Amino acid sequence: MAWDFSTEPEFERKLEWMRAFVRTQVWPLETLSSELGWDGLQRAARPLQEQVKQQGLWAAHLDPELGGQGYGQVKLGLMHEILGSSPLAPLMFGNAAPDSGNSEILAMSGTPEQKERYLHPLLAGDLKSAFSMTEPDTAGSDPTMLKTRAVRDGDDWVINGHKWYSSNGSIADFMIVMAVTDPDARPHQRASMFVVDADTPGVNVVRDVATMEHPYDSFGRYGNHAEILYEDVRIPGDALLGAQGAGFLIAQQRLYPGRIHHCMRWLGVARRAFDMLCERSLYRESHGKTLSQHQTIQNWIADSEAEMTAARLMTLHAAWKMDTEGVAAARKDIALIKFYGAKVLHDVVDRALQAHGALGYSTDLPLEAMYRFARAARIYDGPDEVHRASVARQVLRGYEAPADGVPTERIPTRREAARLQFADVLQAVTAND
Ligand SMILES: Cc1cc2nc3c(=O)[nH]c(=O)nc-3n(C[C@H](O)[C@H](O)[C@H](O)COP(=O)(O)OP(=O)(O)OC[C@H]3O[C@@H](n4cnc5c(N)ncnc54)[C@H](O)[C@@H]3O)c2cc1C
Repeated sequence: MAWDFSTEPEFERKLEWMRAFVRTQVWPLETLSSELGWDGLQRAARPLQEQVKQQGLWAAHLDPELGGQGYGQVKLGLMHEILGSSPLAPLMFGNAAPDSGNSEILAMSGTPEQKERYLHPLLAGDLKSAFSMTEPDTAGSDPTMLKTRAVRDGDDWVINGHKWYSSNGSIADFMIVMAVTDPDARPHQRASMFVVDADTPGVNVVRDVATMEHPYDSFGRYGNHAEILYEDVRIPGDALLGAQGAGFLIAQQRLYPGRIHHCMRWLGVARRAFDMLCERSLYRESHGKTLSQHQTIQNWIADSEAEMTAARLMTLHAAWKMDTEGVAAARKDIALIKFYGAKVLHDVVDRALQAHGALGYSTDLPLEAMYRFARAARIYDGPDEVHRASVARQVLRGYEAPADGVPTERIPTRREAARLQFADVLQAVTAND
């Protein structure tokens, strides 16, 4: 029987290298990222990215023939937990969203020419990309409602639509755009994906949307979320990614592993916040004792440790299921961790912030930024409510309503049945009386 929670020693050594590298080389850069800007950050990143490549850890999510390591989801999950500790770490390891997901789409569905033109330079870090699906005017939670259209015109496609929250859209060299190609088909076969060069006429990046994460207007910053108008964007026929009408199929294949990576990264953030909570509790005194001696704070520490452990095991289990049984088998587990992991992240960061009082609320600590980051986790990649509903639907498939409308566990009914089942025993006991 195999039931093993250990990590291979050789891979554990890689994780140890990553932990030390991220903490000593990447964390310090966080404090300089606004001074450096996107160009400066790229310059600072290059030698670090070289070190990662030398370790054979670059773009580890892809198969070896594409320059990755072909690691399964469990190993990737463990790596992402470390990368999550810093918003800059994924960039250093060639698997920052949305490039990582987009490279998976290209690897999975791209033609040899598309791989040559987009995937290889994306993996080399020479191109940046965006994933352009969500629209301001339709519910992102139900992308079968998408309005953006791609219409055949001779050998070309012409795209018209309005997107927003295309992360990194304002610094991207190309976008993967989801557009309706077959409006009369079944809902999940209506849309297709296209690779669109950012400099194609008609691709108009209107603005980067100021958000809770970056509340002040800025443009062209790494991690911003672009609003984009696609106005008569003419692209060649070979810009179609995968089969016509396969947009949802491709999106699902991209999103499932992506959710595992998100959840593990959130645990990296939560752990860093938790470390701050514990450190603070040991030196801050109030009402005659340190915070660590107040029961509420002890509860926060214990609850956080329990919740992080639960979320970590649930996420690694979902990853293991994907590795051993495939994406379809892991659907419920992935939906489960998506909303549970987001809540754990939020709650742990919230407690750490609270324990730091005014200092926690200030930008002298990374907690307030973590808190803002945590709030988005409940929305992107499908809001909590949609994942909860999906879990409930899948769970309920294993149940059926009792034909007679009487609860299966009703004790008088069960007692009646048990009397028949154990009639002999009952009779013997009664006779003895
Ligand atoms: C930080 C961030 C980065 C993002 N990056 C990208 C990106 O790179 N590319 C991209 O295409 N998109 C991106 N998005 C968009 C994201 O995918 C959408 O915001 C998300 O899918 C939700 O869609 P919506 O915003 O249109 O909300 P809506 O679909 O309008 O939903 C709003 C609310 O309605 C409720 N709701 C909806 N459906 C149900 C239901 N079935 N049951 C109960 N309640 C329901 C929920 O409370 C939900 O939060 C990003 C979003 C954020 C916040």
